[in-house]
Amino acid sequence: MVLLPARRALLAAALGPAGRRRLPPHHASAAARLSSGVGGEPETEGRIGPTAMLRHLLLKLRATGPVTVAEYMREALTNPGQGYYTRRGGIGESGDFITSPEISQVFGELIGIWYISEWMATGKPKAFQLVELGPGRGTLTDDILRVFKQLASLLSKCDVSIHLVEVSPKLSEMQALMLTGGKVQSNPKDDSAYMKGVSKTGIPIFWYRDIQDVPPGYSFYLAHEFFDALPIHKFQRTERGWREVLVDIDPEIPDQLRFVLSPSSTPATENFIQPEETRDHVEVCPEAGVIIQRLACRIEKDGGAALVADYGHDGTKTDTFRGFRNHKLHDVLKDPGTADLTADVDFSYLRKMTQGRTATLGPIKQQEFLKNMGIDLRLQVLLQNSRDTATREQLLHSYDMLMNPKKMGDCFNFFALLPHHRVVHPDKKRKPESKSSLPPVAGFGELLLM
Ligand code: SAH
Repeated sequence: MVLLPARRALLAAALGPAGRRRLPPHHASAAARLSSGVGGEPETEGRIGPTAMLRHLLLKLRATGPVTVAEYMREALTNPGQGYYTRRGGIGESGDFITSPEISQVFGELIGIWYISEWMATGKPKAFQLVELGPGRGTLTDDILRVFKQLASLLSKCDVSIHLVEVSPKLSEMQALMLTGGKVQSNPKDDSAYMKGVSKTGIPIFWYRDIQDVPPGYSFYLAHEFFDALPIHKFQRTERGWREVLVDIDPEIPDQLRFVLSPSSTPATENFIQPEETRDHVEVCPEAGVIIQRLACRIEKDGGAALVADYGHDGTKTDTFRGFRNHKLHDVLKDPGTADLTADVDFSYLRKMTQGRTATLGPIKQQEFLKNMGIDLRLQVLLQNSRDTATREQLLHSYDMLMNPKKMGDCFNFFALLPHHRVVHPDKKRKPESKSSLPPVAGFGELLLM
């Protein structure tokens, strides 16, 4: 898409000349390097015996028998004592995996513009909440807040607040440091939040463990690499019908886990496999379904929009469950709690679970969304304003990471929930062929800033 000149000017105004964020990490070979250096229990390499998480799981499996992959994933990632996100939370160059906001400030800036564009397209409501699910280190919200600051005059009459849904105490501490400089109040008595503070730019920020605790109201929701971290159930087609994949102790090798199939169908196989399913292996994430349903209900009732960005598919892929440690693929059953576990997001399932309460757009490829949002123009501005060769090289490198179809450009997708009236004109009498006066939704069409 080509930006019209007037819109170019506005995009430039929103983003400022160069921005002041730190240089993004240089990680040309991110997948093949980096030591751990992240908190939590030491790695098993060079150590004798299983990790505390594995000991906990072995005890549990001995007592109760095999568990679902969803139960295993929940324990490994968010167990309050030993879970990966609870203790390690290794996002970033020195961690286990890198995400787009950690690669380039431009990513969060363009998402900030997306929300402003939606806010303007719906008549500039007097207040909005920005609700981020799984904010990681807080970098994405920080970049969005910088855009809001640049557009302070536009937002001057709007009451903006930030609401972060985060289960990890370790990551919420990092977010507090990034966004408020560490000045936060824990367990405020007057709120459903477990922590609150004020951003460096003067905007109130609240932390919750569950989306249900976030107060109702016109809200913009954001979930970047959040849904892929939620627990999945796995199913395998057999000659005797569908069976659920379970995690059990390997009887041959001490302290080792293995996958087994349920001897008969389980409640999950009955509920989650559609009769018309053609694949032989299916992953379903019911928790993602519940959360997207909540977002759809909230948007239907109070207005706003949700932007989901993640790697995923539209109900076509089969076995996508994998682990990452130190930027390398890691056996999902090895040393649970020391590696990130993840599965591709099934956007067709998310769409289905909105139950028609909202309209949905996408999924579209990250490179397409960012191009529509004006990433090329932003890159030009940053390049023009950078003085040294190293910075320019870094900018080009991070652009390539985000946009190259062989890197993050094609496998990451953007998907949005919007009130029906935002995309389909409510006037039913309107002839279908008549041109809609509704402004297009940025990113999924033409960027509109007026
Ligand atoms: N959005 C960030 C981080 C992605 S990692 C980025 O792109 O950099 C996943 C994030 O989701 C972490 O912050 C993790 O602690 C959080 N998380 C995982 N499971 C969660 C759950 N059930 N509820 C709330 N947050 C969760």
